Amino acid sequence: MKQKSPFDLFFDEYNEDIPENHFPRDSISAYAAESIVTSETWSDAKPAMNLSSFVTTFTEPESFAVAKDHYLKNYIDHDMYPQLFAMETRMVRWLHQLWNGPEGVEPYGAATIGSSEACMLAGLAHKWNWRKGRQKMGKDGSRPNLVTGANVQIVWEKFMRYFDVEPRIAPLRPGHYRFTSAHLDQLVDENTIAVVAIAGQTFTGEDDAFRAIHNWLDRHHENTGHDIPMHIDGASGGFVNPFLYPDYHWDFRLPRVKSINASGHKFGLVPPGLGWVIFRERSVFDEELMFYVNYLGGEMPTATLNFSRNASTVAYQYYNFIRLGFKGYRDIMLHTLENAQHLRNRLVDSGYFEIMNKTQRIPVVAMTLNGKYTNFNEYDISDKVRERGWVLSAYAMPPDAQSVNSLRIVVRPHLNYNAVEGLADDIIHACKWLHQHGGNATPPKLKDPHKVAPSKC
Ligand SMILES: *Cc1c(COP(=O)(O)O)cnc(C)c1O
Repeated sequence: MKQKSPFDLFFDEYNEDIPENHFPRDSISAYAAESIVTSETWSDAKPAMNLSSFVTTFTEPESFAVAKDHYLKNYIDHDMYPQLFAMETRMVRWLHQLWNGPEGVEPYGAATIGSSEACMLAGLAHKWNWRKGRQKMGKDGSRPNLVTGANVQIVWEKFMRYFDVEPRIAPLRPGHYRFTSAHLDQLVDENTIAVVAIAGQTFTGEDDAFRAIHNWLDRHHENTGHDIPMHIDGASGGFVNPFLYPDYHWDFRLPRVKSINASGHKFGLVPPGLGWVIFRERSVFDEELMFYVNYLGGEMPTATLNFSRNASTVAYQYYNFIRLGFKGYRDIMLHTLENAQHLRNRLVDSGYFEIMNKTQRIPVVAMTLNGKYTNFNEYDISDKVRERGWVLSAYAMPPDAQSVNSLRIVVRPHLNYNAVEGLADDIIHACKWLHQHGGNATPPKLKDPHKVAPSKC
């Protein structure tokens, strides 16, 4: 086949502009199509420099080859690809063990498209169990609510709206960005299906106060008889805490924790398209939610919101688990955390910033501009460093801390020490320039700022 040159575009390839409002009429060569797709996206961010995202932007050549091998397989066809399904089943058991699930139970869980699908499945399981419990007691099961903090990722607001569960949200306040037991007495009641707490929240990277929430729920159980389960949203922390803090009880070691989700495509180090939900034991996921389809020649269970999906991310995760093992993940997370701490120190030492995360578990640096600088803001800094190619997100915090603007940097494993040094230089340089010349960015007027910002994760 003749390789065409880009100049061919001008001769015979492309006779109409890319249409805005109707389906393209003509066909063009693969070469021309590729050139157009490539050039139209030149000005988008470089994924590796997008530090507002938690999602993987680095691949080893071997893992990329694995992904390519499975790229044209539909994961849901377990009948055709039983070995891939066996990998998923094995990984569910591995994660159940990694997150200290009890021994002697049948673990249950699923690979999903991301944490969002995983959270929805966990939320549904808890809604189901709560309603069945209510029916058994002959009580009304029509007004479920879910209790969580204003620092939750947007998926929980989606879950509650899409599945008719009343939101009961504990507010934050300036300087305090974690969900604690402080508001539970006003939020929890007999209609609470679960309490959701986060390991590695999107705003500051901090963990919610699991132990305090757990103890509060224990006391509530004693006083009222209501036995309320906890779900841990470990989208980010699920692949950091086990490796860096093995003695820290954030997981199934807390008896009330009945389900945990994590994003394979965040610190699980898989490219976009993989999440996990793991239940404490199979019985937490009601059998009524399970379907057995007889579609492609065999009977297979399906209990995900999605049906067809790409198999490559599942194979990729399996590659990572056996390639890195506990030791590999631990080394990578240690280095990444050290780089985050270095960035944090450089930015604090510059005098321009105050740090928002009091504890540093996952490698996130969340800062707010030191109050003595009034002629520019976090949005100006975000704009200014974009000139150097860096993408850092600035946003207003959720209620009742919306007076605070945050600038957040997710330090991912692909950033080495030198890259972090360069980033620190660029941020400090931007601040110097802005202090001298003043900034003019106005925070975006969002209808619902706290609902829009974290979706960038
Ligand atoms: C990223 C994130 C989600 C959503 O996960 P996806 O994998 O993007 O679907 C949910 N919760 C938290 C805490 C997150 O960080």
